Amino acid sequence: MNQEKTALFTIFGGTGDLAKRKLYPSLYRLYKKGFLKEHFAVIGTARREWTNDYYREIVMETIKDLADSTEEATKFASHFYYQAHNVTDTEHYSELKELSTKLDEKYQLENNRIYYLAMSPNFFGTITEHLKAEELITNDGFNRLIIEKPFGHDYESAAILNDQIRASFHENQIYRIDHYLGKEMIQNISAVRFANAIFESMWNNRYIDNIQITLSESIGVEERGGYYETSGALRDMVQNHILQVVSLLAMEPPIELKDEEIREEKIKALRSVRIFKPEEVRHYFVRGQYGASTVHDEKSLGYREEQNVDPASQTETFVAGKVMIDNFRWAGVPFYIRTGKKLREKGTQINIQFKGMPLNLFSEDHTTPQEPNVLTIYIQPTEGFSLQLNSKKIGQGLETELLNLKHKNSAETSANSPEAYEKLILDCLNGDSTNFTHWDEVAQSWKFVDVIRQAWNKETPEFPNYPSGSMGPVCSDQLLEKDGFKWFWNPTGE
Ligand code: NAD
Repeated sequence: MNQEKTALFTIFGGTGDLAKRKLYPSLYRLYKKGFLKEHFAVIGTARREWTNDYYREIVMETIKDLADSTEEATKFASHFYYQAHNVTDTEHYSELKELSTKLDEKYQLENNRIYYLAMSPNFFGTITEHLKAEELITNDGFNRLIIEKPFGHDYESAAILNDQIRASFHENQIYRIDHYLGKEMIQNISAVRFANAIFESMWNNRYIDNIQITLSESIGVEERGGYYETSGALRDMVQNHILQVVSLLAMEPPIELKDEEIREEKIKALRSVRIFKPEEVRHYFVRGQYGASTVHDEKSLGYREEQNVDPASQTETFVAGKVMIDNFRWAGVPFYIRTGKKLREKGTQINIQFKGMPLNLFSEDHTTPQEPNVLTIYIQPTEGFSLQLNSKKIGQGLETELLNLKHKNSAETSANSPEAYEKLILDCLNGDSTNFTHWDEVAQSWKFVDVIRQAWNKETPEFPNYPSGSMGPVCSDQLLEKDGFKWFWNPTGE
């Protein structure tokens, strides 16, 4: 089967970190697998004056660990062209158009164009406006726009940005990247649910006590302090990645596993997420900021001591919250979410805690609760599932003990599974937008997050409130304790 795709990629921000660390290696992986062969070309554009040769050297450097031979890497890099470009300069778009037409002919690209905006969202409006005005959008062939987060900093700014982009591209031509959605295990949530009757039949408020989602990072802000100061964990992680995971867990079964069908169900789930009243926020959401600590004789900086961070910063590096979904399936089931930086370990996992037995026949008074059944979906670094069950302890008496049924993808399977960006770029080449976010999802997520942000802005938090290397502030544990629950945490499943 010929799986070769045909397109011209134009990467705005072609000299940047994202392009070098993710995009070029991902394009190369697609090349190696035969999705890209002869009929593709890449234009890298940014302000710096680079030659094609220099650009190709940089591209080759980014794939040196992936390429089997220099010849193969050189052949791949020969499809790359560099054009110095200031996005605000109209003249440059004419040059870009000329080069695009030339490459289109040279590689027979059928006027298929993918514009990847790997730069600050401040420029998105300007770029898309020029792409249309200078006629870089072709009439035949496909035209697709890939954009990176952050998409606005609140609902209002996101709506303005969306209007600007939509003046040039239709919604179905816009691919808003959420690289979390490209992760194999996140996509596998659908398989857990819709390919296993034992789970889907119990996937509701009759059998599920609570759901927990943890996205934990062990590193701090590193050199991204300047950006993080304007964002914080709520905007950086909750508005996009976490609410996307919530919607995949909570949605109704789609008619088919196709992009429009899944999206429709995700949007419905997001619309059922309760938007809090400002005075309710403190009962549902807590925040934290890491302070300095010494672990194994090594001093770890507090957030306020990091580069480009205000020494009195009130930016949160940790969020925990209780999301309520007001529909028939989920009424009364808390979805606890948490994410933070400089936590004990890096890891992403989802825990589904099922309701207990009406009576515990294994305890004398029959009322001491048994350990709950918990289904855990490991997303990273481990990929796999586990199911916690009670079993009879061998020997006399009626004692039970916990048993963990586990499936972990082997390191080899995980290493061979496509990287998130590789998967997403291929989806875009295929015109499949399942794993990208629709404007309606973005809008709904901002509405949820804005209320929390506004309530928090009115109060001065007592920061820092958790030491680096811990699992966050005490208030995060208390959030669950007051409902009679506790966080599960076992990132490697051992
Ligand atoms: P970067 O600062 O490394 O790169 C920005 C690029 O834009 C550079 O190539 C620069 O030359 C170019 N640029 C800046 N101003 C320009 C102008 N006026 N005209 C033309 N070119 C100009 O940034 P990055 O880390 O690559 O991030 C790019 C986007 O991707 C941002 O929106 C960021 O939030 C998002 N993002 C990045 C990552 C990552 O891992 N780096 C992850 C998720 C999202």
